[in-house]
Amino acid sequence: MKKYRCKVCGQMVEVNEGENCPICGAAFSELEPVDDNEDKNK
Ligand SMILES: [Zn+2]
Repeated sequence: MKKYRCKVCGQMVEVNEGENCPICGAAFSELEPVDDNEDKNK
């Protein structure tokens, strides 16, 4: 799974490629990949 930000509902979601937003059901094309480089747990 990869992190995406949904352009429709604005939420961060983790989905497999090709899946819809689990929150609002937007198509995968509405999801933007998010870089994991901002990991604050380190
Ligand atoms: Zn959404």
